[in-house]
Order: sequence, then structure tokens, then C-alpha cells
Amino acid sequence: MSHILERARDQVLERGEGLSEADVLEVLRLPDSRLEEALALAHETRLRWCGPEVEVEGIVSLKTGGCPEDCHFCSQSGRFETPVRAARIDIPSLVEAARQTARTGASEFCIVAAVRGPDRRLMDQVRAAIQAIRESVEINIACSLGILTAEQADELVEWGVHRYNHNLEAARSHFPNVVSTHTWEERRATLQLVRERGMEVCCGCIIGMGETLEQRAELAAQLAEVDPDEVPMNFLDPRPGTPFAELPVIEPPDALRAIAAYRLAMPRTILRFAGGRELTLGDFGTRQGVLGGINAIIVGNYLTTLGRDPSEDLDLLAELSMPVRALSTTL
Ligand code: SF4
Repeated sequence: MSHILERARDQVLERGEGLSEADVLEVLRLPDSRLEEALALAHETRLRWCGPEVEVEGIVSLKTGGCPEDCHFCSQSGRFETPVRAARIDIPSLVEAARQTARTGASEFCIVAAVRGPDRRLMDQVRAAIQAIRESVEINIACSLGILTAEQADELVEWGVHRYNHNLEAARSHFPNVVSTHTWEERRATLQLVRERGMEVCCGCIIGMGETLEQRAELAAQLAEVDPDEVPMNFLDPRPGTPFAELPVIEPPDALRAIAAYRLAMPRTILRFAGGRELTLGDFGTRQGVLGGINAIIVGNYLTTLGRDPSEDLDLLAELSMPVRALSTTL
């Protein structure tokens, strides 16, 4: 049988068909000596099926901390003793964050809240926030508010939310080791709802939560099955006070193998570098990532940890001749 990268070249690069779970596992098991080749193929694949543009997104937290859920990686859970304190942002500060995000050339602005799912009060705040942003900033608005009801999904669509983020986080078989207060199936159902009601689906994952390589491949297949418009890839940043505080940070070659493998599993998706990349990969890794299948980045703050200065990322994209995706192409 031919080598996995030869098969991937024919199947993914030439025909645009993502790798199966078994093939993703083979990519994840590639020796370091083949890593560069895998990243180069993932990059070619991204250029072929997505083009050279990079989508830039900003993110703001409407409600931080105090979440009733127990996701073991999350410093915003109210169940763990973490340094994150419950906080809310007012609308003028939120509009200012959207304005600053738009100034970087970003086309996406995501409003997030640390909740199991939104209640009426939060939905009203979201509506007010969206209205205020629309009045003064030209940017696509996305939301990440947890598990939704059908009525809530309809309301978001009505207010013009074009994309909804809800992560699978972990492979189905690993999920019970990560969260006990809700199920993988509940997460999956919200994604289904989001798609049915007409929003774009943004569905991400966290790599490095003690999963096996088989489970990492399983997660890639489960994400591909959701067929998301966007996949934010996070790498675990073990936060003090959380049950995962002592997990080791994933090794850079393993993180890069995961990026290449996930691109080859999902040739057409927007694959976004999300949280944990500075810790895992550093500056050099960011360059390798955007030359290895990544085609979207978050600028500025990630919810509870500080990201890089946006200008560093934008300079890097300019140097690599990767244009920032313009607003008009996504509105
Ligand atoms: S990941 Fe979301 S649902 Fe889970 S504890 Fe954190 S904020 Fe709550």
C-alpha cells in the first residue's frame, strides 16, 4: 500500500476529499522526519481548496467566569478555584472592542459568554450588544453562548448573527473524562440546530487533554462529520486550579502533526489557530502553522489568557503574502 502522504496527495489535494479516521491516525503517527512534508502538503491543500486568504477574528467576553459547568480545562468554571473572577462587560466597552477588532482588518467579531446556555437576561444583553455594534462598526458578528434552544437559535438568526461557535472539544469517547455536567450528544445537538436554523457552524476542539492519538483521530473524523464552516483548534493551556492543571503542554511537533492531519481531514474548512498556540508553539510555530494548513487567526485577547499583539500576526501574514480576507467576501 502506498505511503499515507502519497495517498493524501491524490485524495485530498487533487480531489478535495478529506482523510478517513484511520488515515488521520497515520498522519498523527508520522515520524518527525516526515513532518515537514506533511505540513507542506497541508499548506498546498489549504491553498488549493481555500485560497491564500486568512480570516482574522476578534473575540470578546460578555460574561466571564462563574460558569456552572465543569469542563476540566476551563478556568471559567465556577466549580474550580481559579484566578478567574466572574465579570461582565458593558455595552460601550464591547462596541469599542469591536471597533478595535475591525481596525486590524478583521472580518469577524465573536461575542462569547461563559454559560451552559443563555437565559432571557443574557439573550437581551446579546441583542442590545449586536444592535450597538451594528450601529457603529462594520463587521460580521458571531456568538458563542453554549447550548441553545430552537427559539434562541431563531432569535440569533433574526438579529443577524451569521456564525455560531460551539465546540465539540473532545472525541466522543474521551468527553466523559473532560466534562460531567453535560454530554457530547448535547453539544452535537446544538450544532445540528445551528445548521438547521441557517447559521454558519463554527466547531472546535482542544488538543492535549490526555487523549490518545486514536482519540485525536476520532475527534478529527467527528468534526469532519459535522462539516463545520470553521474549526478553531485549541491546544490545552493547563490553567491553575482546573483539574487539568498538571497535564503536560503538548510537544510542538505533535501540535504541528495535529494541524496537518486536521487540515487533511477537512480540506475546505476555515481552520483557525485559537487558544494555547503561544504556549505550545511560540512565534516560530505560528509561522509553521500558517504554512501548514491554518488559514484563520484570532487577534488580541483569548478569553482568559493574553494573546499576542495583533500587529505581530498581521506583519507575519504580510510577510508571507497572505491577504487578510476582506469583510465583503463574508458578509
Ligand atoms: S467551557 Fe464553556 S461550558 Fe465549559 S466551563 Fe468553560 S465556560 Fe462553562
